Amino acid sequence: MGIRNLIEAGDPVLRYPAGKVKNIDGVIKRILQDMVDTMNQAEGIGLAAPQVGISKQIIVAEPVKGEVVKLINPKISNMEGQESGIEGCLSIPGVYGEVIRAKQVMVEGLDENEDLVHLEAEGMLARILQHEIDHLNGVLFTDKATRLLDPDEIKAEG
Ligand code: ZN
Repeated sequence: MGIRNLIEAGDPVLRYPAGKVKNIDGVIKRILQDMVDTMNQAEGIGLAAPQVGISKQIIVAEPVKGEVVKLINPKISNMEGQESGIEGCLSIPGVYGEVIRAKQVMVEGLDENEDLVHLEAEGMLARILQHEIDHLNGVLFTDKATRLLDPDEIKAEG
């Protein structure tokens, strides 16, 4: 298990546009696995490489236990609908807010075998993918939140 340190808001790496991955080599595969381990350890459902201090276009997600998505150089190619939902972020501990996202997205990227992936997602996975791809552009959910929850509401969320 390779657990990486989580970078918190305030660190400039979270505000840089992440660079494209040119070569999916052993180093990138190792980063992907470490990101999954780090996400699991922190009990998160998504993680972008800048959150572990690596300014590269790599994201992982696990909307349902055991269903891990790993994407390199992901891009949203289509969005449909709108839906408001509550989000948090491993880089902004204890903060939750309502964010309007597309209901459905089509995301294109590469998997760790350099195969092109077309992922059609809706619901939770669509939300995670939009949140993580925002990280690759230096955008945090608090930039987009229509409202942050107050502490009483957070307790209710568990
Ligand atoms: Zn985040």
